[in-house]
Amino acid sequence: MQFEYTKTNYFKVAGEEEKKAAFGYAEGYKNFLFSSKTERGAVATAVKLCEERGYKPYMFGDKVKAGDKLYFVNRDKNIFVIKIGTNNIGKCGMKIMAAHVDSPRLDLKPNPLFEEAGLAFLKTHYYGGIKKYQWPTIALALTGVVVLRGGKRVEVNVGDDENDPIFYITDLLPHLAQEQVEKTMSKAISGESLNAIVGSIPDGEEEKEGVKAAVLKLLNAKYGMTEIDFQTSELCFVPAGKPRDVGFDRALISAYGHDDKVCAYPELTALFESDGKDTVMAIFADKEETGSDGVTGMQSRVILDIIDNISQSLGANPTLVRYNSKCISADVCSAFDPEYASVYEKRNASFIGCGMSVTKYHGARGKNSTNDASAEMVGYVRDALEDAGVVYQTGELGRIDIGGGGTVAKYIANLGIDTLDAGVPVLSMHAPYEIISKADLYSMHKAMLAFCNKH
Ligand code: MN
Ligand code: MN
Repeated sequence: MQFEYTKTNYFKVAGEEEKKAAFGYAEGYKNFLFSSKTERGAVATAVKLCEERGYKPYMFGDKVKAGDKLYFVNRDKNIFVIKIGTNNIGKCGMKIMAAHVDSPRLDLKPNPLFEEAGLAFLKTHYYGGIKKYQWPTIALALTGVVVLRGGKRVEVNVGDDENDPIFYITDLLPHLAQEQVEKTMSKAISGESLNAIVGSIPDGEEEKEGVKAAVLKLLNAKYGMTEIDFQTSELCFVPAGKPRDVGFDRALISAYGHDDKVCAYPELTALFESDGKDTVMAIFADKEETGSDGVTGMQSRVILDIIDNISQSLGANPTLVRYNSKCISADVCSAFDPEYASVYEKRNASFIGCGMSVTKYHGARGKNSTNDASAEMVGYVRDALEDAGVVYQTGELGRIDIGGGGTVAKYIANLGIDTLDAGVPVLSMHAPYEIISKADLYSMHKAMLAFCNKH
């Protein structure tokens, strides 16, 4: 009988086979992540993975039955993958896993293109919580869609192929930065200065703004667009490049957008492997980084419509289904960083390599605006994890008076569904390149599977 609780380092207890499985799983994740830099990319990649496994598109009103494998795409930016189980959905509810697939980035403004001093730039308005000083002098890719007059949609994706050009936001040389470096980190780089260079060859036929004219000609040749079409586009700069292993032992992965694709991917792999008894739903939500509003965010009523339609088609009362359902709000947490130890409370922090982390509550200043899962709900998930032998840990975001954060948990709990936050610990969260451990990623997959398969 063990009386004390201590965290377990995954690699200390994992055998060679287990470690090999974790590293193998990480390769699938890296591929997923590279093609999922935005919510649109993640949804398209999820559709591909679903179709490879025989999942079929679902539309409201469709008749469903046990054994059906379905997905519903909401405006290309939000997806619900559903596996209808053999258990009575009215009695057993659904197992819901909700992650978000949007990540902090630099969106283009509606009128982004301008020329100054022989250089053409695109102006941005950042999306989500960023530290602005991290975005100059890194390689950026441009990705998204342009809707042309009449509705034709053109996809743009430049900078991730190694033969592509990249885009670049300048910073001041140290020799002339005496005034800049005196400023605070939040003031030194302003939002309005995050303009990326996109061209420097002037069009010889233009007297003024020849570089801008030349860029417009290139865009027209490649995408059939003119300047006004920026106004009907969703284009953004994201960090260029592929996920890379970190460290001599290759146990960590550095990449853009772990938050929250590192939880979205395990949701999907767990759903695919789940035993088919309970009805399981994996959600990739949009707009979490800006408050979960909008038609593709977790506050949209689309989730209610799906649960209502599926329940009714199976002959169950939707209210009862929600009341008996359980949800893991699968989102990352902050990993303890020894370089910044003072913002964490060490006894309640999550550590890299100790498995996915269960977070009973979020919020700030006295748990303000938190879901705060019940002891019973935490206990249910704990039993699932321990029965399946999952290496996991329990933590909170950081020291009480330092700050705080939120996830989609409360929006799902507010629908009358028991919800618990859990996810993978991340170092340098919201930085252009974040870090996670392959151990914690694999633990997340196993945890989600254990949750789906607990009866
Ligand atoms: Mn997140
Ligand atoms: Mn985030």
